[in-house]
Order: sequence, then structure tokens, then C-alpha cells
Amino acid sequence: MGTGPLRLRLHLDHPGAGVDLPRLCAELQQVIGRGLDLEVVPSERSAFCPADPAARRALAQAIAATKVTHPATDRPSGQGTRRRPFEGEIQFEARRLGGDASAAGILYDGFWLQQVLAAALPSTQMRRDWLHLLLTNRLIGTFDDSDRRWHARMVLCGQPSIVSTTGMVLAPALPRDFYTQRHLHEQSGSGVLGEHLRAQMGEAVVQHDDPRQTQVAVSLTLQALLYWTTLEAFCTTAGCRLVDAHTQAALVALHEDEPALCPRHGHWAGAL
Ligand SMILES: [Zn+2]
Repeated sequence: MGTGPLRLRLHLDHPGAGVDLPRLCAELQQVIGRGLDLEVVPSERSAFCPADPAARRALAQAIAATKVTHPATDRPSGQGTRRRPFEGEIQFEARRLGGDASAAGILYDGFWLQQVLAAALPSTQMRRDWLHLLLTNRLIGTFDDSDRRWHARMVLCGQPSIVSTTGMVLAPALPRDFYTQRHLHEQSGSGVLGEHLRAQMGEAVVQHDDPRQTQVAVSLTLQALLYWTTLEAFCTTAGCRLVDAHTQAALVALHEDEPALCPRHGHWAGAL
């Protein structure tokens, strides 16, 4: 980066029990080394968790407005108008910012949420040598114009970058057998839920609070750093941990044993 180490600031938003934070930090430092100035921002100092009640409420209201409540008809920010959030939704988000509510099951418009969070950052840190990253269990999605549907995402690159532990579970496609089984259960009206079928797949897929989420979070953070420093979104070399995994099988395979970078990205990480 020329002038000094890249400042990576990690903000935590209920990432869940699967992420071992000290291990995540140690791994990042090991891969990148001296080129990285890494700090985990305590929530009382995080711009994404303002202490001032008025600022907290304003952020809560802005976040509540990014919820995708009707995936079939809701469109991304800038494409049509959305309803204003209800008071209860704002209070829920304010409680969550205060640390005592879970956002499980809620889908957020990822790019809009990113804009809301970016607006909360100090302008002095909106620079190329600072990268803020939110590690969260919020489910974030982006709208794909080609199939007119929302898709869950594991990572959104940019300032701030967002890494979603729920996205690790829900974004990559499950093995074909899962969809067959789910279809059969739906047809027979057995009442067996997709969540139950997913849990039954065990270690073949990344589960909620799965300890493998630590290594996946390392890879996705590296992906965010790669994009921030080179505008390259991911790698296409088989086996590189920066490969964009579209299936659970690919994600699990990349992170068993020792996940590694390809020689080109190993060089990139070492030169940061
Ligand atoms: Zn690579």
C-alpha cells in the first residue's frame, strides 16, 4: 500500500459461536504478516454501535429500512419505494445495536445496509488505507436482475465490507439430495422442515455455529482485502482459498485441512 500497513478494523455484530476470534486474528496476521494493522474494535468504540441514544436510534431506523420483508416484490434501494419501518422494527434494531436481540431469519438488502454503515463511519477513515469489516450473523442478500430474485451472500466487498456467518450456511447451494428430499417432504406434507434436513447433512455442509466458520471467515476477510487493494473480487485457481464457492461441497472442500492461497495470491498477501 506504499505509505504504511493497511488498517483493518473488525467490528463484531453477533457473529455466533462458530467464530473463534483470537484464532481468526492470529490466522490473518500469519497470512498477511507485517503489512496488516489489525484491530478488533470494541463495541463501545464502534461507529456501527453508537452510544449516543439519538445517533443509535437514527442508525436503527436506517438499518430497519434495509430489511427485505417481501422478497418476491421488494427491490433493491433505488428501484422503487419501500415502506417506512414500523416503530417496533426500529426498536428491535436499537435493541440489537445494544447487544440484546438476534436478527436470525431477517434478510437485509446488502448494498443498502453497506451504504447505511458507510455513512456512520468517520470521514477521516474513508480512505484507501483503512478497511472496516463487519462480522455479523445478519443475513444479507443482493438482488440479481438476471433471475429477478434475492440471493443470500457470504461477503460483500467494499467500505465497509460485510461478512455474514448466516450467509456461510444459507448462501452456497446445498447438495442436490437436499432439494430432492425437501421436495418429497413438501409433496407428502410430512411437516419435515428444510432446517431439519440441513442439520441431518452434518459435516457435509457448514452449519450454524460450525467451528469451520472461523477459517471461512478468514478466507472471506482475505477476499474483502483483495478487492479493497486490487479490485479483484476472487480467484479462479482451483484450491485457492479466495475461490468464490457457489456450493457447500466446494466451500467445505476448500476449508478442510489447511486452507491455502495460490502462489499468486500468496505473493499478494506477503507484499501488502
Ligand atoms: Zn488465488
